[in-house]
Amino acid sequence: MRIELITIGDELLLGFTIDTNGAHLARELGAVGVEIARRTSVGDRADDIAAAVGDAIRRTGAVITTGGLGPTSDDLTKPAIAALFGRPMRFDPVIYAGLEAMWAARPQWGPMPAANRQQAYVPEGATILENRHGSAPGIWLEDDTGRWVAMLPGVPREMRGMLADHLVPRLTRLVASAPGGDVVVRSRTLRTVGIGESALAGLLGDLADGAGGLPLAYLPGTEGVDLRLTARGLPAAEADERLGGAVALLRARIGRFVYGEGSDDLAALVLAACRERHLTIAVGESCTGGVLGARLTAVPGSSDVFLGGVIAYDNSVKESLLDVPSAEIRAEGSVSEPVARALALGARARIGADVGIGVTGVAGPGGGTPEKPVGTVWIAVAGPGAAAPVAVQTRRTMLVGDRGEIRQRAAQIGLDMVRQAVTTTPA
Ligand code: AMP
Ligand code: MG
Repeated sequence: MRIELITIGDELLLGFTIDTNGAHLARELGAVGVEIARRTSVGDRADDIAAAVGDAIRRTGAVITTGGLGPTSDDLTKPAIAALFGRPMRFDPVIYAGLEAMWAARPQWGPMPAANRQQAYVPEGATILENRHGSAPGIWLEDDTGRWVAMLPGVPREMRGMLADHLVPRLTRLVASAPGGDVVVRSRTLRTVGIGESALAGLLGDLADGAGGLPLAYLPGTEGVDLRLTARGLPAAEADERLGGAVALLRARIGRFVYGEGSDDLAALVLAACRERHLTIAVGESCTGGVLGARLTAVPGSSDVFLGGVIAYDNSVKESLLDVPSAEIRAEGSVSEPVARALALGARARIGADVGIGVTGVAGPGGGTPEKPVGTVWIAVAGPGAAAPVAVQTRRTMLVGDRGEIRQRAAQIGLDMVRQAVTTTPA
């Protein structure tokens, strides 16, 4: 089954709002076997909405819209599509009573504005899709040849709720009853870190046309390169089996760079690995300025593993709070292997943790030199293990991107080094 998505709102065309609704709808519908043939965005103009929906209906006979259902004058979706279907608008007393009840339950909102009355008008013959998450109900409008438009609100939380409440069940039934309708679109994503896109492609080159026949997408970001496999047009069980086989094939090749799957967060995985082994972490951060601490503390329940850290930005703080020898800073510069090592050891010893992470680098945009260009980052991980002297791993990385990206990438690599140091320690 092929359908089209139309997202409506001037803010989408102006670039102030990213069309996350389109992306969410595409992912969720793909999972139940609905193929998105085209995505279109239009502004808040009745003519443009009607033209886009009209074209889409002629192509696929099946359209979902988001946006433009609210009470304000830029919310034109319902009348524009009603006109396209040749349906008058009618006042729906049940919707109106629901709106009144909503305001009655919230005295702090004051009296209901007259504009909200507009939300109670629906195209003649439409099915109302109840909105448990907001005031604008959704609409399902179908003509006598079975061509349909489903209108959802633009607010992402409301749209997601109504998709799950109404559209996923409806479309799952439609797909199942369509000829050859028992097929799905499913994806699995392997998350890698510590290797670039082109190096990965070098290792997987001969799979470029597909891993086990499935297309493979390289998705680089600040957390590493995600590898996404997609199975289309197969029955669910076969899609899952093919994906499982392809994942095994990839893991056999590049498993050492894979830290997780789907939406796995490396910080959460590192905390779990440490927790299992009763290990604690401390950080000594220079160029990341707290990004590592933020990644770790963003995970609920991190306090039993993450003890704390020092943002040792100025050299005097590296020396006074983390015991980095001033002679080393003078000899090698603050962006250097011995300083990263000393930051990790200092954080570990001063804070009393099993693992210390030290990061120092040139995040840019200024401050680069021919020997240490912007993006040069030294990262060190001290521990775990009680042996003296403490084992320290160090790594120099040359990171690309703007200042924010370099800091994010450095934190991610630091976390990966902890993952590797810790998981070679028995639980
Ligand atoms: P509307 O239902 O048109 O009044 O939209 C309400 C709000 O939802 C807008 O102000 C946007 O912030 C947000 N929104 C609308 N369309 C989208 C979209 N396609 N993706 C993400 N957010 C959206
Ligand atoms: Mg709008």
